[in-house]
Parts: sequence; C-alpha cells; structure tokens
Amino acid sequence: MDDTKPIILWFRRDLRLSDHAALTAACETGRPVIPVFIYDGLVETLEAAPKWRLGLGLQALSKTLADKGSRLILRREGRALKALRALVAQTGATSIYWSRLYDPEAVARDTSIKEAFKAEGVEARSFGGHLMFEPWTVETKTGGFYRVYTPFWNAVKNVGVDTPRPTPRDIRPPQDWPESDTLDDWQMGAAMNRGAEVVRPFALVGEQSAQGRLGHFIADVVDGYGDNRDIPGVDGTSALSENLSLGEISPHQCWHAGHRAMQEGKRGAEKYLKELVWREFAYHLMHHTPRMLDGNWREEWDAFPWKTDADSAHVVAWKQGRTGIRFVDAAMRELYVTGRMHNRARMIVASYLTKHLMTHWKVGQHWFEQCLIDWDPASNAMGWQWVAGSGPDASPYFRVFNPDTQLDKFDKHRDYVSRWIAEGRADPHKDALAFFDAIPRSWNLSPDDPYPDPIMTLDAGRKRALAAYEDRGF
Ligand code: FAD
Repeated sequence: MDDTKPIILWFRRDLRLSDHAALTAACETGRPVIPVFIYDGLVETLEAAPKWRLGLGLQALSKTLADKGSRLILRREGRALKALRALVAQTGATSIYWSRLYDPEAVARDTSIKEAFKAEGVEARSFGGHLMFEPWTVETKTGGFYRVYTPFWNAVKNVGVDTPRPTPRDIRPPQDWPESDTLDDWQMGAAMNRGAEVVRPFALVGEQSAQGRLGHFIADVVDGYGDNRDIPGVDGTSALSENLSLGEISPHQCWHAGHRAMQEGKRGAEKYLKELVWREFAYHLMHHTPRMLDGNWREEWDAFPWKTDADSAHVVAWKQGRTGIRFVDAAMRELYVTGRMHNRARMIVASYLTKHLMTHWKVGQHWFEQCLIDWDPASNAMGWQWVAGSGPDASPYFRVFNPDTQLDKFDKHRDYVSRWIAEGRADPHKDALAFFDAIPRSWNLSPDDPYPDPIMTLDAGRKRALAAYEDRGF
C-alpha cells in the first residue's frame, strides 16, 4: 500500500482518541489520517437533546484533534456514501475506517457503504470499540442468544475484556486538508431553544472530562456504589452514560478501572461491572431482535389497551412534572434541567406512565429520546420495555411501583424532591427554579403556582391497570 495515500477515519459515536481501535490501526499504517464527521440523514433525525449533546462532543473532539496537530473535517450530505465518495475523490484516500454501530439503521447504512466501496476498490474496514462483547459472539449452549440478563452476565463475566489502547502518539496529517463545514453551520442545538443554556452546566463533555469523571468515581464513589446507587439525592453513580453514549470513553476503560477497584477490595465495584454489562445486554437484545426498538418484544402485549395519545392532559402533566406525585414530578424536572435522570427515577416515571396512566411505553420512550443527553437506542428501549412488562426478562406488569413508598425508601430526607420542586416552598432550590428557565414559555408555568393535586390517585391508577391486565388474561 502506498504510504502517502490517506485513510479517512469516519467518527460517529466514538468521539475519543484513546482506546480507539480504528484510529490506532490507521495510525499504525504510517499513512496520513483524515478524521471526518458526516452530518447525514441519521444525524438529521436525532432528537433535540441528543443532537445538541453530539454537537458539544464534536466541538471537544475537534479540539483534542487540533492539540495533536490534526483536524476534524465536517461534511453535510443526506447520504454518507455521497460525502465519503466526494472525500475519496478530493483527497486520494484509498481506505476508510470506522467503529461499528449496532442499531438497524446504522447497520444498513454501513453495510451498503462497505459493499459500494468494495466494488470501487476502496478499502472499507469496521472495528469494534462501542461494546466489550460483540453481540454475535455471546451464545447460549444451544447456539441461540440470551433473553435473560443473569445467564448473560455469567457467560461474559470471565471472558476477558480487551486492555484499553493508548492514544496514538502521532496522527499524521495529509499534505492538504480537504475543506470543512463549521459546527456553527449545522446549528445542532437549534431545537433546544432556551433549554440549552440551562442544561449546559450539567453536561460533562469530551474525552478528558470523562476520564476525570471516571477517576473521581473510582476514587470516591464506587466503594459505596452498592448502597448509594439507588438514592437519587446523592452522588452515588458514575454519571458516565452520556460519555459512553457518544464514545467519549470506552466501556473497556470503565471495565478495567472497575475491575482494578474490585481487586483492591472496593465493595461496590462488582455491582458497577454488572451495570456495564446491562448496557451490553441491551445491545445483545437489539442486535438479535431489532424490533425491540419500536414494538412490544413480547407480541402478546400488542393486545393491551395502551393509551397512545402523546398530547393527552395526563401525558402533558407527566412531561411537565405536574402530576401531583412528587417523586415523578421531581424526576421529570431533573430530566428537563440536566438532560439526565437517575436510574431509580427512570423506573418510577416509566412505571407511573405505563401503569397508573396506562400509556404506551413508546410515548415515554420518545419523550426520553427528545430530552436525554445520554440517549442510547438500545438502553432506552430495553429500559422502557423492562418496566412496562413487554420486554424479555422484564419486571412483571403486576409489579407496580408505588412512587410514595419509593420516596420513603429512597429519598427519606426528601433531598431529591426539594432539589427539584419549587412550588409551595418559601426558598426553592436554584435547580428547581432553573426548570422554569428551561421550559418553553408556552407551558405557562411559574414557581409561584400552587403545587397540583394528583391527576390520578395512586390507588385508583393501580387498580385500573391491574384490572386491564387481568381482563386480557395476561
Ligand atoms: P451507573 O450506575 O454508573 O452505571 C454504569 C453504566 O452502566 C452506565 O453509565 C450505563 O452505561 C450502564 N447501565 C447502568 N444501568 C443500566 C441499565 N439499566 N440499562 C443499560 N445500561 C445501564 N441508559 C442510557 O445510557 N441511555 C438511555 O437512553 C437510557 N434510557 C433508560 C430508560 C429507562 C426507562 C430506564 C429504566 C433506564 C434507562 N437507561 C438508559 C439505563 C440507566 O438508567 C442509565 O444508564 C443510568 O441511569 C446512567 O447513569 P450512570 O451513568 O450514573 O450509571
């Protein structure tokens, strides 16, 4: 291979330089590397918060590359293939490398790009990195895929996770850089409106920040993780999901740090490793049953009388954190202000929507997709179907969380609800007030409003859901 012919390094959800198999392989050839991000149809269809967060991630990646004497070339084109072909023609590149993605639309796009370039004599190579265990490599004894988490965990826990690769020392630049858009051209935060300014301080963006966050978690938090991970009012988890979602950190880096902590006797470390494997399990399920993303995994649930109106008064109250149920409302406001929500709270708001309000989990899945900066197609779909009862290895529908009992158990001192709910308080927390700066003015809400009465009493909602469940003979 002519060592002057550049390699195009197509970044997608792998916005880091360390532990990057494709980048390392490209640099090891000694050839010039042209890092590229393409705003194609799949990027265009991202919802508000994930698209905005991606824009921040790209800004950070551009800077990291610039510090290495390289550049991130930005191109916008409906079809990524067209953009890549143009780059190949303009730069004389003979290879394109990227890190694999697993959702069906990305797989279809990447497969057709690979085939097209193969026919045109351009090398197109994909690499792992987004996952520790490629979904097709983990098999049951009979050669099938896992539908239940615990056997999946048992199958992978001792497999051995690749040691993270260091950041390449040099990224050889090409003789001439191709032209590039600017991030400002793309306006990736447009749909966030005034929310962007409020959410921004809560986002921890880029590879360097993610590494800092992992260091803090391992040093100060992981020991108590087993006890604290369920308490939304304390800093008890890694909060790295937004970085994992965009590949600003690799799961391998998290795993090895967690594994070392376990060997050093830190108590919560194994639990943390198990949570990382929940993410892998979600991808395993999505790979083997991509229909999980937009339909009931258990098809018998198609007969359930879900309400599907995303704009009904009940659903609007849920989205606006105005259900009158404190744990639910606090969580929905945390989501709006930070772009994140504690895992315990995700389960509670999802249970409340799908059970007390008998609303289809897809309505909630879509709202999360609009609001989450850690949005992940596999974990979001699995999480919703797990709570709704329609997924594999799901919590049974008849197990209805009672948000008030949950509050007494997981927010004993009301730290969480007082941080997020302003109404009725003489001296509201600044984060509770920030909610009113983030929301659209058309919601017409004020911290001086009275706190609402419950839109549905917990007992009535529970009974209605269980009656519908039993009527259908589930
Ligand atoms: P930690 O407690 O520090 O866990 C470590 C890592 O393990 C996380 O960063 C995450 O990558 C993974 N993880 C932990 N719990 C889960 C889980 N239940 N499923 C899959 N992976 C997990 N997670 C997302 O990343 N994106 C989503 O869009 C998303 N949507 C969800 C929707 C619902 C209804 C539910 C119930 C859960 C959802 N989750 C989602 C999973 C989970 O809530 C978040 O991963 C977690 O809250 C992230 O916080 P953390 O990084 O502090 O997690």
